[in-house]
Amino acid sequence: MRPLVRRTYIEKEYKYHCLSCKYWEWAPADVVDEFADMDDFCEEEYSKDDNSKRMGMPIMVCPSCDADLYYAGEKKEEEHSCLETQDDCTPF
Ligand SMILES: [Zn+2]
Repeated sequence: MRPLVRRTYIEKEYKYHCLSCKYWEWAPADVVDEFADMDDFCEEEYSKDDNSKRMGMPIMVCPSCDADLYYAGEKKEEEHSCLETQDDCTPF
């Protein structure tokens, strides 16, 4: 058996909320980054109103009512650790 190595990593999440149905969630940073990448191609599609509400963050879609999901101005970072062999990483 290969020895296991404990590795720690930081998981970043952003709080997103829906202004119409009050749904909110913690969105993982890598998901938000994907939306941000798409925004680079359609920057001009945001209205001035949208731009003031999104606080520099991408706008996502509410999974509950399909309205715009906005960054709520909060983020958190959590430290996780996992045991790892060569390529495997099992959440601990
Ligand atoms: Zn909603």
